[in-house]
Formats: sequence, structure tokens, C-alpha cells
Amino acid sequence: MIRERHLFGPGPSNTYPEATSALARPLLGHLDPVFLEVMDETCEMLRTVWGTSNARTLPLSATGSAGMEAAFVNTVHPGDVVVVAVNGLFGQRMCDVAARCGAEVVPVEHEWGRPVDVQRVVEAHPSPAIIAAVHAETSTGVRSDIAALGAAKGDALLVTDAVTSIGGIELRADDWGIDVGYAGTQKCLGVAPGLAPFTINDRAFERRVEKPQSWYLDLGLLGGYVGEASSSSLQRTYHHTAPTAMVASLHAGLARVLEEGLEQVWARHESAGAALQAGLQEMGLELFAAEGHRLPELTTVRVPEAVDSAKVRRRLLEHHGIEIGAGAGAYAASVWRIGLMGPNARPDAVLLVLAALREALD
Ligand code: PLP
Repeated sequence: MIRERHLFGPGPSNTYPEATSALARPLLGHLDPVFLEVMDETCEMLRTVWGTSNARTLPLSATGSAGMEAAFVNTVHPGDVVVVAVNGLFGQRMCDVAARCGAEVVPVEHEWGRPVDVQRVVEAHPSPAIIAAVHAETSTGVRSDIAALGAAKGDALLVTDAVTSIGGIELRADDWGIDVGYAGTQKCLGVAPGLAPFTINDRAFERRVEKPQSWYLDLGLLGGYVGEASSSSLQRTYHHTAPTAMVASLHAGLARVLEEGLEQVWARHESAGAALQAGLQEMGLELFAAEGHRLPELTTVRVPEAVDSAKVRRRLLEHHGIEIGAGAGAYAASVWRIGLMGPNARPDAVLLVLAALREALD
């Protein structure tokens, strides 16, 4: 039997009970009118959490990485200049994905733990086709100012990774000038991994690659099934077998979030993160991300000298059923990542992880 875990790492987080029980409902076919209604409502709720009115807002049938692939494979024409703000692992990955799509990538490197420097990014090239940045860098626990980037992007399309920000901190795709955005279900939305909430506006869709190299992620083809087809359910054509149980689960998770209220959910993440960060500092631990730019939903903390990082994580898992994350990249052994996302953004989770960490460090 698998013991329940407290998933306090960088994701997945524990799920909202509503999202989990939806998985056990009778399975529906992907063209069943009842399922199409569930899909339409899911797309509508996704518009709310994205802060967009984009018709093409849909859950892609794969994890967040597929969202990243879809963003670039549909928008990068061979030789396009893509400026990528790199302040962690997922910015690095964007460079790799964009290059594979034929982009001339201009990476703008930042010290890990620091937010994106908007001025440097927009000055990196005079006329990029695309500017890309990660809103919430899961590798470092840093929030970047996407609104400022959107205001300064000029004619470029702005691609934004919102995997760790959606449903956890303020996100306003339309107001901020996000042209293409992708996210994941398994973090602050409190749903199991498996879908990539995605949004693209008309400006970006009009500039898209007519026949992208990926058939599965071709937004032109997907549009016949979800998103833009919402109002004409009966004419929908088969593209792939949508993971109907996962969509039902996302539907339930989104309904749970919106019932609480998006701003209330953001505030809940904010206060849990602030309490955790204060508690860690009271224990004498040093936070990694730059002050003023720390994500509430994902806290990075330096492993004290002479402490075996992996041993502490093992102790937390084996004795307390608590998962926290190791650091990423060069910080694998010197940083811990503690996530309080979705249903875990609560005061009892803060107390639990602080008490367990105190015990493990004793
Ligand atoms: N982007 C960010 C910021 C992430 O945190 C992650 C996953 O942790 C991804 C992209 C990739 O998403 P997935 O692991 O769901 O494919």
C-alpha cells in the first residue's frame, strides 16, 4: 500500500479532493456531448485563471513541457530571432526547445535567484520575433515582472511560462500583453499532472506556422476540437482521444478554485509562503531567492554548511511522509525547494513542514 505523502516539493502538489474524486466518475467518450460541455466549461474557467478572453484557451493533452513545445513549434518560423530571458532551468529549456524549432536564439543570462531584467532583455536584439520568459522560475523560487516585459516587448510576441504561477499568484495574460502562455495542472491548480493549460491570442495565431513540424501540437488542427470550436460543439472533429478523466478532474479543480475566488486563492498562497519564509529565517536558515522577488508558492532555502541535503530529505520522507525538493542544476545539493501549492497553501502545512525540518536538522 502506498502511504499518503505531503507533497511539499516543487510539484506535483497534493490535489484538491474535488479534483481527485472527479477521476472516479463514469468515463465519457471524447465526443460525447456531455463531455464536450465539460470541456467547454473547462476552457471557460481556464480563461478566468489565465486572465484572458482568448478563444484559443484549452488544456493540451500532456504536461507543461508540451505547452512549452506547443508555444514554440507553432510560432517559430525558421531563422526567427527568439530572445529568451534565462534566470533558471526552465529558461534554459526554452532556449533548447526554440532552437530545435529553428530559431536563432538570443539567451539573456541572469544570475540564478534573480528576477528577469526587463531592460536587458528588450535591448538584447532590435527586432526579435519572440521574447520569452518564465513567470515563476521553479528552479530558483523567483517571480519575474511579466507585465513590465509585456509593456516593453514592442512588436515581438511574448511567450510566457506560467506553469508554477497559474492559480497561485496574480496572472493577467491580456492586461500584461502575454501573446502565448502555457502552464501545468499539478502545481497551484491542485490537480494531478497530465494537462497543459494553454492560451494564444489572435495576434500570435495569425503569425503562426501554417504546418508546424508537430502534428499532435498543431494548434490549427486542435482548434477544430477545442477552444475556438466551443460554440459549435456538434461540429467538432476528432483530432486525438482527449484524456477525458483528466479533463473532468481539471474541471473540478478549477471549479474549486473559482468557488473560493481567484484573489482569495492568491492571498492564501501569499500568506502561507510568507509564514513559511519567516519561520525558516527564524530557524536561522537563509533564503536563496532575492528578497522582494520571492514566490510565495515555492520557497528556496540554502542547505546549512555541513548538513547532508539528501539525508534530510530522506528523513522527512521516511519519518514524516513529507516530500521537499532538492535544488536544481548547480544548486542540487546546496538548496532545498519547498512548495506550498494548491490545497497545501495553508497554515497547518506551514507548521508541519517547519516542525519536521526542525526535527530533521536536530
Ligand atoms: N516550466 C516550469 C516553470 C516548470 O516548473 C515545469 C515543471 O516543473 C515545466 C515547465 C515543465 O512541466 P512538466 O514537468 O509538467 O512537463
